[in-house]
Amino acid sequence: MRIVVVGGGMAAVRLVEELLARGYDGTRVTVLADEPVAPYNRILLSAVLEGTHDPSALTLRSPQWFAEHGVTLRLGARVLEVDRGAREVMLVDGERIGYDRLVLATGSIPTLPPVRGLVRLDGTLHPRVHAFRSLADCGGLDAAVVPGQRAVVVGGGLLGLQVARALVARGMRTEVVEGASHLLASQVAPAAGAVLARTLRQLGTEVYTGARAVRLDDDGLRLDNGYTLATDLVVLAAGGRPSTALARRAGLMVRRGIVVDSTLASVTDPSVHAIGDCASHRDRVTGFVPPAWEQAGVLADVLCGGTARYDGRRSVARLRATGLDVAVLGDPLRTAGEVVEVANPLVGSHRRLVVDGGRIVAAALVGDLSRIGLITQLYDRGTVLGPGEPGALLMPEATDAPLVLPDSAEVCACAGVSAGEVRACGSFEVARERTRATTGCGGCRPAVERLLAPVSV
Ligand SMILES: Cc1cc2nc3c(=O)[nH]c(=O)nc-3n(C[C@H](O)[C@H](O)[C@H](O)COP(=O)(O)OP(=O)(O)OC[C@H]3O[C@@H](n4cnc5c(N)ncnc54)[C@H](O)[C@@H]3O)c2cc1C
Repeated sequence: MRIVVVGGGMAAVRLVEELLARGYDGTRVTVLADEPVAPYNRILLSAVLEGTHDPSALTLRSPQWFAEHGVTLRLGARVLEVDRGAREVMLVDGERIGYDRLVLATGSIPTLPPVRGLVRLDGTLHPRVHAFRSLADCGGLDAAVVPGQRAVVVGGGLLGLQVARALVARGMRTEVVEGASHLLASQVAPAAGAVLARTLRQLGTEVYTGARAVRLDDDGLRLDNGYTLATDLVVLAAGGRPSTALARRAGLMVRRGIVVDSTLASVTDPSVHAIGDCASHRDRVTGFVPPAWEQAGVLADVLCGGTARYDGRRSVARLRATGLDVAVLGDPLRTAGEVVEVANPLVGSHRRLVVDGGRIVAAALVGDLSRIGLITQLYDRGTVLGPGEPGALLMPEATDAPLVLPDSAEVCACAGVSAGEVRACGSFEVARERTRATTGCGGCRPAVERLLAPVSV
């Protein structure tokens, strides 16, 4: 089958890797990517902004790697239309490319919050306003950073916190505005949001929650509580929405995302699939790398004739930002169960497990992720715990102690890699290349290093 993938982002690259790992003929695969650069790790954009990573260090797979595996990678190739009748896609220059199976991996686009003055009459963003989704956005923002000047980040979700940390590290006086009553309001409880706000303030960022930006003018950014924040720079981090215009025009069913079944096929057309941020499964869109990569693995199996199915049951999110560690399993705010919590705002940690019938059914960990591997394993397996165990799990682990994890425990949530698979690699570089652990959000890096560290006797 000729497989054509639209989009060259994190889900698309993972799909190609998974297809090749199953022996799929790379010469039958074409990736059409509208960005002009080799596919890169979007999660690490804030590290580039912060100045700790060079843009070239973000490359997931180089054009040479695609060529060596026979895969056609077309950069700067934007797909304009899908002709499902003819089973062809059309690029902006009119070129048509045929497919047997089409995979839409078009990601998401930043939401424009309803703030007057963000957009000029000609439809372009005000020169002081920046989005933060792509390497190009990152370059534009990077050029606008002036140490000592003021920046306001609109949005106190995962992305907003990452950007704020990076701007502070670059010497900007940075403030975060969040309309909800606390930070990370969709993922964590108010107390955990307050711990995060405290940590951010200690790291040099002022935080305004329960306040909406309403207007940008010469005085600065006006909030609905009457304050005006003088600012030289505004970064939009108020969330994203699935990029579905192509699918809509092609007549595929779209709700918030492109509606897919458990084989990740469009419910309208079984020869079209969708994975990653643009897909909607059981009325849920995801927006994180671990589910995008899980979907890529399932779809590769399906395309190779396997029986894997995506049930969307497993939801894991990790935040990558210097000095802010957050992991969320499932939906800790809306899942029914007993709540076991340990908080220590003084050290910036707040950990919550939701336990139902002795099983961990959701978790949110802020500030201390030393037990995340074990907690994830117990969550995944639905292991029944004794009454004292959830509390004991929330006690911090000494980071210099050997990492006690059974071989089956998952270490890398993005690539789904177990402790045993990491140990079998013997070295960090081999583990990285063979399993792709650490190449997603990077949150598993300390655990992978500790698993591979020589044991002293
Ligand atoms: C700054 C930032 C930080 C993030 N941090 C985290 C984090 O800490 N943890 C986490 O789990 N997730 C994080 N995310 C989210 C994560 O990056 C996404 O979930 C992931 O990239 C989804 O992969 P995807 O392939 O679906 O979409 P993307 O990686 O967005 O790729 C989609 C690609 O498709 C291209 N495209 C769209 N339309 C077309 C078309 N018509 N023709 C050709 N190409 C097209 C787009 O330009 C883009 O390159 C972050 C996102 C951003 C922006």
